[in-house]
Amino acid sequence: QAKTLGRARYSYFHSELNSRLQANLELEQELAYAIGHDQLVLHYQPQVSAKTGEMVAVEALVRWQHPTRGLLYPAQFIGLAEESGRIAEMGVWTLREACRQLADWSARGIHIGNMAVNVSALEFRDHRLLDSLQAALDASGIPPQRLEIEITESVLMAETETSQRIIERLRQIGVGIAIDDFGTGYSSLAYLKRLRPNQLKIDRSFVNDTATDSDSRAIVKGVVGLAEALSLNVVAEGVETEEQRAFLQDIGCHTLQGYWIAKPLTVEALEQWLLNRRT
Ligand code: C2E
Ligand code: MG
Ligand code: MG
Ligand code: MG
Repeated sequence: QAKTLGRARYSYFHSELNSRLQANLELEQELAYAIGHDQLVLHYQPQVSAKTGEMVAVEALVRWQHPTRGLLYPAQFIGLAEESGRIAEMGVWTLREACRQLADWSARGIHIGNMAVNVSALEFRDHRLLDSLQAALDASGIPPQRLEIEITESVLMAETETSQRIIERLRQIGVGIAIDDFGTGYSSLAYLKRLRPNQLKIDRSFVNDTATDSDSRAIVKGVVGLAEALSLNVVAEGVETEEQRAFLQDIGCHTLQGYWIAKPLTVEALEQWLLNRRT
């Protein structure tokens, strides 16, 4: 009896594991196809000056328009792309597309400011990142200064020689470097001195709590002060309420990003948003 039950349970787990693996394998193969077949799309979220409200940049955020599953968000496929080794390929596409779009807006006289692109820690282990970045800049003709690479502290934590060299080269090329989700990693602050990023992006978990939690207010204020002292630009991400916006403006945070300003938008929706704002 027990034996049969055990076997039944085993095969139950076994088949569940199998079908999960199967689903992942399927998605993984579909992702490989998606990258080359126009199924990835970038949405763009505005970043505005806290003082003037003027748009200073957009952040490119990848989505996957899946033929049967609908619009998928990074949480649903970035991990898979990393595990299956597709992330580099995806990164090449993203850099190229973001630069192309920025050049297109420029050519049409639409003022967008800078373009921020997320690059995953895994891509920093690979020197080919630099080649694809240079190729994206060359193909689009946009000045390197208008491109900002967003990295998380995990890149700095892992700091291999390769990632260190890549960051140095990025600085030489002239692209900006932003530390994403600042304050959530386990890295030491020493890298701020060595690396001299251009920008800190305060993680939205801190921003979110500013209305209710005085510790979060103190942390956000502290990061703004730190950025100020080091002459770095500071962005608050995840601004969702007028109260948060007012607080951030009050303490001198430079740049705001979040649903209160705008959600990530398609190209058409962003252009419409800009038009509506002007009137
Ligand atoms: P992130 O770089 O920290 O991007 C901010 C995320 O917060 C985005 O989620 C954005 O839609 C969301 N967000 C913005 N404002 C608000 C707000 O006011 N409230 C809330 N609750 N959320 C807000 P998304 O687009 O799902 O992206 C998630 C993460 O996936 C990104 O976090 C980034 O780490 C990664 N990611 C996105 N696009 C790319 C990409 O092209 N390449 C790589 N390697 N990673 C990407
Ligand atoms: Mg980001
Ligand atoms: Mg972030
Ligand atoms: Mg984040």
